[in-house]
Amino acid sequence: MSEILVLVEHVDGDVKKVTLELLTLARSLGTPAAVWAGPGYSDAAKAKLAEYGADKIYVADAEEIIGYVVAPKAELLAKLVADKAPAGVLVAATAEGKEVAGRLAVKTDSGVITDAVGLGEGFVADQSIFGGGVNVRSRVAKGTPIVAVRPNSTAPVAAAGAGAEEKVEVALSEAARAARIVERVKQEKGARPELTEAAIVVSGGRGVGSGDNFAIIEKLADSLGAAVGASRAATDAGWYPHQFQVGQTGKTVSPQLYIASGISGAIQHRAGMQTSKTIVVINKDAEAPIFEIADYGVVGDLFQVVPQLTDEIEKRK
Ligand SMILES: Cc1cc2nc3c(=O)[nH]c(=O)nc-3n(C[C@H](O)[C@H](O)[C@H](O)COP(=O)(O)OP(=O)(O)OC[C@H]3O[C@@H](n4cnc5c(N)ncnc54)[C@H](O)[C@@H]3O)c2cc1C
Repeated sequence: MSEILVLVEHVDGDVKKVTLELLTLARSLGTPAAVWAGPGYSDAAKAKLAEYGADKIYVADAEEIIGYVVAPKAELLAKLVADKAPAGVLVAATAEGKEVAGRLAVKTDSGVITDAVGLGEGFVADQSIFGGGVNVRSRVAKGTPIVAVRPNSTAPVAAAGAGAEEKVEVALSEAARAARIVERVKQEKGARPELTEAAIVVSGGRGVGSGDNFAIIEKLADSLGAAVGASRAATDAGWYPHQFQVGQTGKTVSPQLYIASGISGAIQHRAGMQTSKTIVVINKDAEAPIFEIADYGVVGDLFQVVPQLTDEIEKRK
């Protein structure tokens, strides 16, 4: 079976969950081959990638690969596409992943699909487009299919692969060295998972009423090990930082469970969350449009419902 290249997302040497999801997807399409770009490769990383089915691991761990903005990763993948003729390339649909995908498509004269929420036989991708109003199935018609898949689109399932390592050297072009990274500042990370990767997201909207009241949303999130999200009404009001905004002009999330409290369900908010697997809504207005996409809905005051829900979850731990 042909190889499917999977660009590994890693932080401080740890393989991110989205990569395990991509390896799981790749197994259904061909033989997964992980591509490690940049320093930090270790036996632990190798074991993780093999555990989730990587048959091959291409390792390009030169410091230089992460010394410049995005372009080196696209050049590395382009070299592998030329040398190995894979059946397709999967990347995570993160901001960086999508840029890598676009650049790789230009370099290899191939088609690219971004923000896929599913991927099936023949590289047919499911996408939710036009602000989430339309679902389409599409396939790349030219070159090597390059697909950027959203985190949480599939559940990672372990199935051992050989994990055979192959070192890759890539001679970066002048163009790839055009934008050098001069400093990296680590964002202080709380105990909560990253919003776009979290399996559970608990969001609050205008109904929460104030920044202080977001504490009840955070409590519910923490009881579930979830990330916190917010509607634009809440972030514009300064109740919660903008980086947690979910929607068309915020982050796109696709968790297993999305709990929306005090959010009406404007199309721009839905655009960022409606591919969530299970949607739970808490809203005091039974006519709120968000109930149209809810799997479970509670018509009630969030100040009563959310703390009770948190208590019940804590009791069951
Ligand atoms: C170009 C553009 C881009 C946009 N991008 C985004 C985006 O990325 N993300 C986004 O979210 N929005 C976005 N918006 C804004 C969007 O149109 C809505 O204005 C916004 O989503 C509304 O936020 P909300 O649901 O929190 O507030 P509202 O629409 O005011 O809804 C508040 C809800 O809370 C309920 N409520 C009130 N009190 C309680 C209570 N005590 N208990 C339970 N329920 C209660 C109400 O019944 C109501 O349904 C965008 C708009 C534009 C024009």
